[in-house]
Amino acid sequence: MAEPVYLHLALPTPLRRRFDYLAPEGTDPDDVRRWPPGIRIRVPFRGQQLVGILLEVSNYSQVAPAQLRPALERLDESPVWPEELMQLCLWAADYYQCPIGEALHTALPALLRQGEATDSVVEPVWQLTTEGKGLPEGALKRARRQAELLAALQTRAQLSRAELTLLDIPRSAIKALEDKHLIEKVQPAQKAITTDLLSEQPLTLNPEQAEALRQIHPGRFQVSLLDGATGSGKTEVYLQAIARTLAEGRQALVLVPEIGLTPQTLSRFQRRFAQPVVALHSGLNDRERLDAWLQARSGRARIVIGTRSAIFTPLADPGMIIVDEEHDGSFKQQDGFRYSARDLAVVRAHRLNIPLVLGSATPALETLHNARQGRYQYLRLSQRAGGARPPTVELQDLRNQTLHEGFSRDSLAAIAAQIDMGNQVLVFLNRRGFAPTLECHQCGWLAECPHCDARMTVHQHPRHLHCHHCGHQRPLPRTCPSCHSSQLEPLGQGTERSEAALRQSFPQVPVVRVDRDSTRRKNALRDLVAEVNKGEPCILVGTQMLAKGHHFADVTLVVIVDADAGLFSTDFRAPERMGQLLLQVAGRAGRAEKPGRVILQSHHIDHPLVQTLMYSGYHAFADTVLQERQQGRLPPFRHMALLRAESSRPENAVEFLRLALARAERLHASDSQLSYLGPLPAMMEKRGNRFRYQLHINSASRGHLQKLLTQLALELESEALGKRVRWAIDVDPQDMS
Ligand code: ADP
Ligand code: ZN
Ligand code: ZN
Repeated sequence: MAEPVYLHLALPTPLRRRFDYLAPEGTDPDDVRRWPPGIRIRVPFRGQQLVGILLEVSNYSQVAPAQLRPALERLDESPVWPEELMQLCLWAADYYQCPIGEALHTALPALLRQGEATDSVVEPVWQLTTEGKGLPEGALKRARRQAELLAALQTRAQLSRAELTLLDIPRSAIKALEDKHLIEKVQPAQKAITTDLLSEQPLTLNPEQAEALRQIHPGRFQVSLLDGATGSGKTEVYLQAIARTLAEGRQALVLVPEIGLTPQTLSRFQRRFAQPVVALHSGLNDRERLDAWLQARSGRARIVIGTRSAIFTPLADPGMIIVDEEHDGSFKQQDGFRYSARDLAVVRAHRLNIPLVLGSATPALETLHNARQGRYQYLRLSQRAGGARPPTVELQDLRNQTLHEGFSRDSLAAIAAQIDMGNQVLVFLNRRGFAPTLECHQCGWLAECPHCDARMTVHQHPRHLHCHHCGHQRPLPRTCPSCHSSQLEPLGQGTERSEAALRQSFPQVPVVRVDRDSTRRKNALRDLVAEVNKGEPCILVGTQMLAKGHHFADVTLVVIVDADAGLFSTDFRAPERMGQLLLQVAGRAGRAEKPGRVILQSHHIDHPLVQTLMYSGYHAFADTVLQERQQGRLPPFRHMALLRAESSRPENAVEFLRLALARAERLHASDSQLSYLGPLPAMMEKRGNRFRYQLHINSASRGHLQKLLTQLALELESEALGKRVRWAIDVDPQDMS
């Protein structure tokens, strides 16, 4: 009899192990032995069916054959991923202490997770018919969108639905041209069929840009930090580096922060290149996402732009990776598979032996540290491109000032002056809603969330109280629940309130609010930005959504209403984040010909970090914060992981972490590299009725930390108490809350 053959699979379960199955009934064992890792296999699992990923076929299983069940069917002819990407996922699962099944499934588009076939979904593309090609120029003058579509097809030969969406061509225009037999749907050519690389002329680089481009060497691994202020021309360097990559017949992968994948960014890439560009972001439905993913995998798409999870996009001919705004927190996933897309970009580029460019105006301290240690190449753009000058910055002391709805008199006067001159003003306030909470003037009662250690935010449109941490909502009370007084007052400033105040003070200009609430509708943000970019005088008021990715040419004044939040947080990363955010916001001022001015209102203008940041710049600020980190034995000088536990019964979570600590100390009793802190309550101890605690694990050695975590995770998994708390390991945590 032939030797038995076993399939070792990764299944989407929270268990840290492989699952063994027999080959599907009726298959030939010799044939099964040749099945490649990376194909999907459907299996029975606890009364349901799951889609697993084949890790290995072997002659051996630790489980007794009688207990094994046959798999149901093989779903793929060839692996869903290139080997390289599968290895990256396995490496990441290991590094971030995520069960492999969960990690591999996070990296796959939803439809493939559900077992969709990969070949049935090759989406058709549109191209010109012979008639369409022969159409005289200007023939469709009166149908603008149709003319745009024709022009786009003339330079790009074939366009997929994803690309048409990027170009913002409406379905009606596609349908109209189809009906006129000017365009037709066909199966896409395997590779792009246009030979043109660019569809517009690149800019002439200034000397610093040219030097940066020269230092980014194609064809081998190297990480470059491109450190340049907002508007210094980083994107232009990316575009030209990408052009070079495409010319070599390779693809480029560009990662941007969630909030940075704006229509402006996309259209800039789309305008420059005649080659297919696909975007992967949360706005796509499952079908569009899979389509874009498959286009990247087949090599049809030459440029892939996406947010965090796009780091797992398969590429047929990878040539370069770019991570824009590399300091941005959204590159780290905060639940489940807690990976950092930026850090994985370093690993992936290394394994592929291709260059990686990390760009930022305010590099993460980790990245800056790596550059200073010589691990990354340091490239600097010190000037604003195209002649724009840096903004002037002034600190506005709020102490002892009478404030009008959060604004000092000087700030209001400065806004008025700019409006009178026909300019635009940006007001930054990182709190949405009307006011951070509701207060009783009589007894001091505050509107607290019953489920969290947090106050409820007052919203006016529609009027209600809303907890931004757990989502709990309730109507605004008319009288104080504690003393029945009717003197309830909103306390503090939110964007809605600033908007109302500015409307009242400046009735002659529109006030445009940009925050998560005002941009919920699809395309709302795009429409707001387009409106502002017409250049008419207006006041923009908003949260950090305003701080990133947008280019507002006519903003000459930025007012930062309250800069103090980051100064007194217990999160050791808070000052870094505050500094980055303030500079990003400040960078919105004076991006074009007009000079810019920034006013920073603060109750703590003497705080050394504020002073350093504003008067000595980001590098001096970074030096100070890095010194504090070194003294505090914190990252990037030490390696860190958090063991998080939460439970509706606080004593369970604490007990679990105590047990974990005891285990860890026993496993590595004499290891002086490792140190522990906790169990400690999280900054918000109670959230959504769960009590949250942390154990901080610190290590001078990455290797020791990894070894400990791997052993600890396995032990904790079999711990009875572990089943009654929700626990997770967060390696290189970004958000300590
Ligand atoms: P960043 O990505 O650093 O914010 P951008 O690449 O967006 O900077 O450049 C800012 C502005 O300067 C853009 O309007 C861009 O078109 C322009 N620009 C960039 N490089 C040049 C250049 N070499 N010559 C002229 N204008 C440039
Ligand atoms: Zn009261
Ligand atoms: Zn809540």
